[in-house]
Amino acid sequence: MRNIDIILTVDYEIHGNGKGKFEDFCYRPTEMMLDIANKFNAKITFMVEMEHYFAMKKQPKIFKDDITLFEKQLTRAISEGHDVQLHLHPQWLNAIYKDGIWKFPYTAKEIALLCNDYKLAYDRVKKAKNWLENNLKIIDINYECIGFRAGYFQMQPSFNITRALLDNGIICDTSVAKGMYRNNDSVGKIDYRSVNSEFYPYRALLDDVSKEDKSSSLIEMPIFTLRVNKIIRKLKKTLNIKDKTHKISYTVSKIQRSKVPLQVNPAGKKVINKLMNKRWDFHGYQYVDFCIGYPHKMIKVITKIAKKFDQDSPIVFMGHSKDFIFANHFRMFLEQIEVRTGYSIKTLRSAIRKYY
Ligand SMILES: [Zn+2]
Repeated sequence: MRNIDIILTVDYEIHGNGKGKFEDFCYRPTEMMLDIANKFNAKITFMVEMEHYFAMKKQPKIFKDDITLFEKQLTRAISEGHDVQLHLHPQWLNAIYKDGIWKFPYTAKEIALLCNDYKLAYDRVKKAKNWLENNLKIIDINYECIGFRAGYFQMQPSFNITRALLDNGIICDTSVAKGMYRNNDSVGKIDYRSVNSEFYPYRALLDDVSKEDKSSSLIEMPIFTLRVNKIIRKLKKTLNIKDKTHKISYTVSKIQRSKVPLQVNPAGKKVINKLMNKRWDFHGYQYVDFCIGYPHKMIKVITKIAKKFDQDSPIVFMGHSKDFIFANHFRMFLEQIEVRTGYSIKTLRSAIRKYY
């Protein structure tokens, strides 16, 4: 019988603009996650943002406690059989800590630094991979850093970063999310609309990770995205048009006339505002965040798509330690997976070895 390998990846980081405390946004929620996961023998994969750590290391006195917690937690995760793989936000490279806050340029240019400079990408990946392997092989001799997620999903232009990964022995990228599209905004351009599948791994073309190249040595494990319903899609489409207020009321009344039950109540307005403030669009797709999502919804999604599979397949879910608020939801999700056959929770590392 075919098996679905659920890969729970957690971006282990504070906010991209440098705001937030490491202890509150990474350490504490992660301790809670590990405690719950261990009860079910479920293995989590932490995509650890190493540039923040290296920035803290430049201020060892100020960040003494955070550095200790960081190292302690990664050691704990590996010793309990979880996984740690690499995540990099290059905007941290020029970070300065002054008057109690981090300051750094936070522009599309900084976010895409590793995509536009092979030497820099090679050096940063090497430094981070070496750190992880030197420190974590002591705990687990089989540990290896072979998976990567780009900060802000920024893997385009792909030419430099894909080669820098492969030249460092990193053979898997998990940054691409089907449907995702950003253009002309402050956080850089990407276009993952033409990706073949929401979950199937594929060999990625080194010049453009959103395309397949069967001869490539880099495997792409897409972050699972889901087609969102028609109404939200319509609203999102409308929100890209200039006269937003008018268009929204027009669309809503049109939807209402077509007898789709939708009323713009205060909660609805909240959703609309949230959509309007979104800095990028998933073009009809959204990723299913297991740190926020409702367990019954996630189970529904997984069992529905599982029907499509006639062979083993991974599904990469994404979440953030800083968003891990609903501990009960996570527990309920793991309970549901545990009682079902044909599903297992795998680390990214073991999934790469299985599907590569
Ligand atoms: Zn990140």
